[in-house]
Amino acid sequence: MNQVRAASTQDRTQPTLLVSVHDVSPLTLEASRRAVDLVVAAGLPLQALTLLVIPCHEDRAPLDEHPDACAWLRDLDTQGAHLIMHGYSHRMSGRCLSPRGLFWAHGFARGQAEFFRSGAAETKQRLEQGKAILVRAGLASATTSFVPPAWLLSPEARKAVLAEGFACHEEIGGIVTSQGLRAKRLVGWGSLNSFEACATRWWAALQIRRGRADTRLAIHPADMNRPRTVAAIRTTLRTLLARSSPMSYRAFLRSISQKEPSRPITARE
Ligand SMILES: [Zn+2]
Repeated sequence: MNQVRAASTQDRTQPTLLVSVHDVSPLTLEASRRAVDLVVAAGLPLQALTLLVIPCHEDRAPLDEHPDACAWLRDLDTQGAHLIMHGYSHRMSGRCLSPRGLFWAHGFARGQAEFFRSGAAETKQRLEQGKAILVRAGLASATTSFVPPAWLLSPEARKAVLAEGFACHEEIGGIVTSQGLRAKRLVGWGSLNSFEACATRWWAALQIRRGRADTRLAIHPADMNRPRTVAAIRTTLRTLLARSSPMSYRAFLRSISQKEPSRPITARE
């Protein structure tokens, strides 16, 4: 079955399904393993899976000092999964009390939008530190693309990320590639409390009834603690796999670069 799916990754007549497991770190190792097992059991080949890896989660779990997590991730990398650097610590320092900050950084991201208020120098430093940890962990392949925590960047952080020359980075509106913004539709779940879990299950069910489009499906380790959310992820994944071509972010970039010319990526103002 996986070979059939892998072959279908070349089929661009169908929309693309981009499944990612977020927040992979030594602090979330068990739940991250369960998330990977879940998507593979639902029919997603490892070659079509993207994992977002936090180099030093919460400023207290440097990945290169946790051999079990490193070994597991290196094995997934060897099997073809795409690993991407996901912030440095994932945690935002300080507070942002503007209306926009209260809504996005504290409401939506709950203080986890690491780069929401970062300047250029701080962003560059965190990216360099994150890359160094991943290289020491034997995961240099994870340093070629970037996803900021909560998909949020300050204008200065965005410029710094673009200056790094990543193959792509992802924001809440889509994947920023040298062909433009792609895969704008996002399906994900929240697991902070039962109300949020219920509301996001309803929202995800609504999303998969919309017309076909390239879709990002984001799974978080915390989702694994809610049986009804696990069931919803399984159902959503099977529904989307039946009508989409699953690809890792890396394969998706390759497929669109073969069809469309690249152009300079510029920071939005
Ligand atoms: Zn995250």
